[in-house]
Amino acid sequence: MKRKKIIIIGGGPAGLMAAEKLSSVHSVCVFDKEKNIGQKFLIAGKGGFNLTNKAHGLELISKYTPSGFLNNALLSFDSTDLRQWISEIGIPTFVGSSGRVFPEKGIKPIDVLNRIKEKLIQQGVQFFNEHEFIRFDSNKTVTFKNHEGNIVIEADYILFALGGASWPVTGSNGTWRIIFESMGINTKPFQSSNCGINICWPETLRINHAGKPLKNVRLSTSNFKVMGEAIMTDYGLEGNAVYKLVPSIRDMFNNNEPVKINIDFKPLNTKEQLINKVKGKDVSSKNYKEIFNLTTTQLAIIKAFTNKNSFQSIEGFVSSIKKISIPVDSLRPLNEAISSIGGISLDEVNDDFSLKKYPKIYTIGEMLDWDAPTGGFLLQACFSMGNYAAKSILNEDI
Ligand SMILES: Cc1cc2nc3c(=O)[nH]c(=O)nc-3n(C[C@H](O)[C@H](O)[C@H](O)COP(=O)(O)OP(=O)(O)OC[C@H]3O[C@@H](n4cnc5c(N)ncnc54)[C@H](O)[C@@H]3O)c2cc1C
Repeated sequence: MKRKKIIIIGGGPAGLMAAEKLSSVHSVCVFDKEKNIGQKFLIAGKGGFNLTNKAHGLELISKYTPSGFLNNALLSFDSTDLRQWISEIGIPTFVGSSGRVFPEKGIKPIDVLNRIKEKLIQQGVQFFNEHEFIRFDSNKTVTFKNHEGNIVIEADYILFALGGASWPVTGSNGTWRIIFESMGINTKPFQSSNCGINICWPETLRINHAGKPLKNVRLSTSNFKVMGEAIMTDYGLEGNAVYKLVPSIRDMFNNNEPVKINIDFKPLNTKEQLINKVKGKDVSSKNYKEIFNLTTTQLAIIKAFTNKNSFQSIEGFVSSIKKISIPVDSLRPLNEAISSIGGISLDEVNDDFSLKKYPKIYTIGEMLDWDAPTGGFLLQACFSMGNYAAKSILNEDI
């Protein structure tokens, strides 16, 4: 006999993990406003599908902002636990480059989602798709809108796992914020995270070099630097190294500071080492590319953002190789960002993600205001939060 009635709203990784843990004991219904659950999970699987990252313990928790907020959830269900859980439902994983954990070759994102769903159905979870949550109250009553009208459902516990606001075509559009605000829950506006940046490239540079990679560069702002790869695009820069700079860039924009991104094209060489390369050689700006081993795109960027005198002097040119400063216009919009910050303010929730103002109502996953880089850390946090909230309910209800 199942004991309590639990409704979970939002069929993404956070909600599905909570459903899996709770349904062994309680009666669980999962509601989602889309035709199918897990749409963002499937999108995540289209690129590199990083289910988690091999980082664990202190290394794992160091990836999240603000620090400390997710520690208990992450430490009670870390990347090893996630790999174990997913392998038990029939999805073996492997560790790829930079510690990213992927499903074994040949396993598609839909296979992973179907396995999770099958496990939940076996455990008696009921799914209600095309049910949009539009209201809740302190008696744990939730109103949904579906094609027949409104339905009202009462539960012993409610878990909201409504996602953030990036890629709204997946269903996670953040329109729920207004409902929580109307219930006295503070929320923060959504902002893009893990996204590209807009740069107003000079026209010829844009036309001739959009799509070209900038490999092994160091990117920096005034307070953060990172090594890696970026891709030059029509509108600016994309790529993992750029995403890591986004929190710093976003803070500067939020403080109304002008933002510049600096590129060091030869991070492994000092200025002196680069100057030594020209000793005894007949140098002119025509053979910079060969002498300093630069790509055509690197050279074009340096030329576009260096004044003529500097470009023609060796000292000036080498300084530009080491640091070219490019004004950043803005971050790419939410509909392209991999994740978002904003949503439920963290001071509204207890350690187990239950709302301080509404007992037995929880908010989990990307709908809360935290941040993490790509590389499996986003999904890991969502699964860990689902697990932790479920554990708290199970402990409470013994
Ligand atoms: C392009 C892309 C690539 C990504 N790649 C990775 C990756 O490789 N690794 C990684 O770790 N992370 C990745 N992510 C991020 C990851 O997918 C998300 O962090 C994660 O899906 C968030 O999980 P969630 O359960 O909090 O919410 P979501 O997965 O967003 O699910 C929320 C659910 O709530 C439903 N919902 C919303 N509002 C309502 C409402 N009013 N009523 C009913 N239902 C509602 C939505 O339909 C949705 O199904 C990627 C994201 C994108 C966009």
